[in-house]
Amino acid sequence: MSRRVAYFFEHRVGNFHYGPGHPMKPHRLTLTHNLVVNYGLWKHMKVFRPRPATKDELQQFHADDYVDFLLRVTPDNAHQFAHQFARFNVGDDCPVFDGLGNFCSLYAGGSIEGARKLNTGDFDICVNWSGGLHHAKKFEASGFCFVNDINLAIIELLRSEVSPFLNENCSQEEIFSLSRE
Ligand SMILES: [Zn+2]
Repeated sequence: MSRRVAYFFEHRVGNFHYGPGHPMKPHRLTLTHNLVVNYGLWKHMKVFRPRPATKDELQQFHADDYVDFLLRVTPDNAHQFAHQFARFNVGDDCPVFDGLGNFCSLYAGGSIEGARKLNTGDFDICVNWSGGLHHAKKFEASGFCFVNDINLAIIELLRSEVSPFLNENCSQEEIFSLSRE
């Protein structure tokens, strides 16, 4: 039996730059997508353009003040936020760049929607090659990663009726203690 595969790509995700000399290059996402198109892989998958994650969705895992920071800080207003850089581990590895908040929302949106599509049972496999930025912590950036789309997707998966260990009354702490087990 062939597997039903969903593929998520938002073309704007390839337009962001971490800055000159930075090894993380979102443009590679565009190159990868071009391979998907030109090799005809898209014919074997259902292609979705995910909507960006909302602030509320990002806050399902991340601290409110950290998400607020990510969505508001820009290179132009960075001086107003400089006192928070050390606390949020923003700097060389995880720099403030133009569109940082949009980038986070775009790549996380694909992972969250992928998890939802798995939950409905309409697809067996969901692909979001823009995501996987798993180093980001609840309160801070780490290893080129600002928002942890993997954890956000796991939170969605835990909402599924097939998930044996979640009900509506679970707190965030309980979800994570369960998901660590
Ligand atoms: Zn990382």
